[in-house]
Amino acid sequence: MSELNLILLGPPGAGKGTQADRLREDFGLPHISTGDILREQVAEETELGVQAKRYMDAGELVPDEVIVGMITERVADGDARDGFLLDGFPRNERQADALGEALSGLGRRLTAALLIEVPDEELVRRLAGRRVCVKNPSHIYHVDFDPPKHEGVCDQDGARLIQRDDDREDTIRRRLEVYHSQTEPLIAYYDRAELLRRFDGTRNPDEVHAHIRATVATLRLEEKL
Ligand SMILES: [Zn+2]
Repeated sequence: MSELNLILLGPPGAGKGTQADRLREDFGLPHISTGDILREQVAEETELGVQAKRYMDAGELVPDEVIVGMITERVADGDARDGFLLDGFPRNERQADALGEALSGLGRRLTAALLIEVPDEELVRRLAGRRVCVKNPSHIYHVDFDPPKHEGVCDQDGARLIQRDDDREDTIRRRLEVYHSQTEPLIAYYDRAELLRRFDGTRNPDEVHAHIRATVATLRLEEKL
């Protein structure tokens, strides 16, 4: 039995969501996002969900043990038995250790950590160029890659286009700083464990996808041996 137990790493704006969707189609892997799990469990008022909500209501971070508990339960679910793609977790070495222990408790181990790399300047260009329609936030443009016909005006309804606060350059740079300080130790951690696979996220999404798919297919063959 070959499993594909994968972690997806990469900065905001690297296209992780797109690649996760495609990997799910290619290999039938459930995409496990920490944010989604947390929302589900809080909504369903599971034991862990109730615990998590207590911290969130108090304005505190949900502790690692609670998150790890949720992930461990999710990974043991039927649809994740042959593998999973984990996104947004682990965020630090402590969580990575906890995940490793949880998996080995299930008689499993991590197959690989997939890292999509994009330089900060490129990410700032991608994210800070986004413009959103004030009337309908699903009308999204990009000043370089997908500009509207008339600057600052939505093609579909003529409404004004704005830059969201989240897409402001200073906000993006702060998020990138947080990403680097949290994730670089994690990258080194998986590199030491010889689980890290790097992908050039400056290529177009189809090329990135082809590269990741080929790598994952090879990993699966190796797992079978
Ligand atoms: Zn519009």
